[in-house]
Amino acid sequence: MKELGARPEELEPIEIASRDEITSLQLERMRWSLQHAYDNVPMYKRRFDEKGVTPSDLKTLADLSKFPFTVKDDLRENYPFGLFAVPREQIQRIHASSGTTGKPTVVGYTEKDCDVFADMMARSLRASGVRRGDMVHNAYGYGLFTGGLGAHHGIERLGATVVPVSGGQTQRQVDLINDFKPQAITVTPSYMLNILEEFLRRGLDPRASSLQVGIFGAEPWTNSMRLELEEAFDMHAVDIFGLSEIMGPGVANECVETKDGLHVWEDHFYPEIIDPETLEPVEDGQEGELVFTTLSKEAMPMIRYRTRDLTTLLPGTARSMRRIKKITGRSDDMMILRGVNVFPTQIEEQLFATEGLAPYFQIELYSTETMDAMRVHVEAAGDGVGDADRQSLATALATRIKQQVGISSEVLVGPAGSVARSEGKAKRVVDNR
Ligand code: ADP
Repeated sequence: MKELGARPEELEPIEIASRDEITSLQLERMRWSLQHAYDNVPMYKRRFDEKGVTPSDLKTLADLSKFPFTVKDDLRENYPFGLFAVPREQIQRIHASSGTTGKPTVVGYTEKDCDVFADMMARSLRASGVRRGDMVHNAYGYGLFTGGLGAHHGIERLGATVVPVSGGQTQRQVDLINDFKPQAITVTPSYMLNILEEFLRRGLDPRASSLQVGIFGAEPWTNSMRLELEEAFDMHAVDIFGLSEIMGPGVANECVETKDGLHVWEDHFYPEIIDPETLEPVEDGQEGELVFTTLSKEAMPMIRYRTRDLTTLLPGTARSMRRIKKITGRSDDMMILRGVNVFPTQIEEQLFATEGLAPYFQIELYSTETMDAMRVHVEAAGDGVGDADRQSLATALATRIKQQVGISSEVLVGPAGSVARSEGKAKRVVDNR
């Protein structure tokens, strides 16, 4: 793998500023953001008043915990533009969440917000090892989803060449990678597996491709998946995180030289971790639900937005800004089987640990007369795997899941192509209960 990483002189000063500098900038911006929300969005005014807080009560960053939370339903209830803090005419762009967990929610950006979006995405790409003049194959979906256009503007902002392919048409994705020879690809990790399958189907060696780094996000993925993709393409795989309510992709990103969690771009997005039961903030280092307050967003300030994503805040390493651990999953994806909490990422880890299985899976939940149960659909790697081998692969995975995750499941090893392939965010769980 080629050594990648930004040189110190290429970084913005704030990325390596002291913690004091960062927190004083955060405090100043947080005051502005609370005031802006209070003055311009009726919902925030009402909520703050109900709780008896005003923006001037924020004396330190810790005072943020006095302010009310915002949740996804607030966006739904104010559909489409009720949370905008500026007149509609000042909105330069509209996006919507992908609707993974229900009715899509609408977000808006002023010209300045779009500018920050491009800057943060460019910073994320730079952290991933992409440089001015590189070519980036952008296979995130274009359209209302923030992934495609978000990455697009960041690639341009960095001074790289963007190939705006969007998702789908996998054969063409492979043609373009072979013909144009991009250094980097932006895509969901599950769709990258599809692209890998197409390379192999054609007898092409993915390790010989021009790709040096993949910037993967928009869905949870494990370090086991990272190793699989890095090995398959002989390239780096780094994690990018974001959500439309806060901005889109590029809220946090790993540094390619450390790959030790995602640095939150804390000069624009203030992270907290709360206990999802008590709703109290927890100390850095403890796991809980990630909450964000936007610090500079004009069009649609978000105050203490509960992401439902579960992770841990850690100190900075390659950058001064704090990191989040790779996301375990979102609380909506948590399955509870006979009292045990399970996330799809835990199944993914066991799948990669079981030799002989292809990297595709889908979880089916169903109910028997007495309880809820889980069936895991997977495939054997390679062709011509006989019934007996399939059965032993199924037993091997079921045993691992039982031992490592602590739940009983049925594993079905189907023929090649039987597990639904993803073109964007993979649908990991089908609930037939
Ligand atoms: P939706 O909520 O409809 O999926 P978005 O497209 O805004 O809408 O997706 C944001 C969500 O995607 C995040 O809250 C998180 O659950 C997931 N996500 C994005 N990037 C990552 C990542 N790198 N790792 C894990 N989950 C991610």
